[in-house]
Amino acid sequence: MTMTEVSQVYVGYLVESRKDWSLNIEQGVLVIQQNRIVFRAKVSELEYVLEKYNVARNDVTVLSSSQFLMPGLIDTHIHASQFPNAGLALELPLLDWLEKYTFPTEAKFSRPEFSVEVYNRCVRATLDSGTTTAAYFATIHRESSEILAKVCLQLGQRAFVGKVCMDRNSPDYYVEKTEESLAETQAFVNKISELGGSLVNPIITPRFVPSCSRLLMSELGRIAKEKNLHIQTHLSENKKEVEWVRELESDCQTYAQVYEKCGLLTRKTILAHAVHLSDQELETIREYNSGVSHCPNSNFSLKSGVCDVRRMKNKGVKVGLGTDCSGGYSSSIINSMRLSVLASNSIKLSKELGLGEGAGEGEGEGEGEGSEYIPLDYADSVYLATLGGAQLLDMEENLGSLEPGKLADFLLVDMQGKRETTPFGHESIQNFVHKFVFLGDDRNIVLVVVDGKIVKDIRNMQNI
Ligand SMILES: [Zn+2]
Repeated sequence: MTMTEVSQVYVGYLVESRKDWSLNIEQGVLVIQQNRIVFRAKVSELEYVLEKYNVARNDVTVLSSSQFLMPGLIDTHIHASQFPNAGLALELPLLDWLEKYTFPTEAKFSRPEFSVEVYNRCVRATLDSGTTTAAYFATIHRESSEILAKVCLQLGQRAFVGKVCMDRNSPDYYVEKTEESLAETQAFVNKISELGGSLVNPIITPRFVPSCSRLLMSELGRIAKEKNLHIQTHLSENKKEVEWVRELESDCQTYAQVYEKCGLLTRKTILAHAVHLSDQELETIREYNSGVSHCPNSNFSLKSGVCDVRRMKNKGVKVGLGTDCSGGYSSSIINSMRLSVLASNSIKLSKELGLGEGAGEGEGEGEGEGSEYIPLDYADSVYLATLGGAQLLDMEENLGSLEPGKLADFLLVDMQGKRETTPFGHESIQNFVHKFVFLGDDRNIVLVVVDGKIVKDIRNMQNI
């Protein structure tokens, strides 16, 4: 680092999660150079920091008493192509919903101009809501999927972009031949690599078992292995779907085993939903160090079931959060954070009321002595949306907290952003984080930094 290097220096409350899911909150100084957090110190060491990094006092961003910094939020499962349907069409369960609403919408992305409009709005909206990293499903169209990758690069969002693959049990107007799906995936992967930069990467994306042949999935597993790529798909979202998979792949004991046999379970695999899993499946997922994207809004909205994150934590399975827009009606990961707490509360309630199933598949899986189920709280939701997501992506070394050495992906949150969250004066910093999880929205996220670059800044705007 030379003395002429431009450094960003922030002073104020730093909020992040520890590996044990608890919150770590302290006042401190954070120094950013290029795309990394390079130094962190106590506030009392500010003078030393300014000298060391040759920064004038006037250039320091000093946070107000209603502000804090936190790591950027990670959405580990979102369908950018379903963004036009967000908030619509949620009366049907998964398989009918796909046929009636989702496949027709996704088919429209054969038109590049439609893709440009939707993808710009989707990426802009999610950045505004604090999503600094997203794992996107696009559609089966290569050109349109490339447009999504370019939009992420242009607007500065870290992203994994997947060209969706599906070669069976799909409508005539929205399906691929196996060879075509593989060739287009190869071409897509090559094209994204040519775009340059590390911000946007391709991710291998078989939609889910019912719409992918074993040959397709096995070949996709081979491509992922050969190029060391991430993989994303859906797993055990809905009971009818699980039953269908049992019929389609009767030589496999479980849904997860289909992916295992096709080489699709790796430490870089994101399995969305995973609502209805046996202990054996959870063990398989843990063995491969794959992980689960918990999508509570979608699971409630499509009435799929309730995923028991506490059970997964206890079994050592990696978990992050996903919006699953538009199965989930909101593209904001803050919404997923608060709904992850409600989903967990609903499991506790079901157990207490003796409602049995729907209370998660396992009894007595809560922490403690196996008697009392302890639901997730706001601090757990911060973990899931930051460090949990980073772990799930196998990027814990680079993302998920404000530690020096990590990539500079973070948010400046201001509780003054809207009337509901504006402080009364009695709140602690913990209270601020609590309120942000339950009441916060894009108005509270006044600064978004991805890879060291400011991609949203409404610090000077009058919001209320
Ligand atoms: Zn999904």
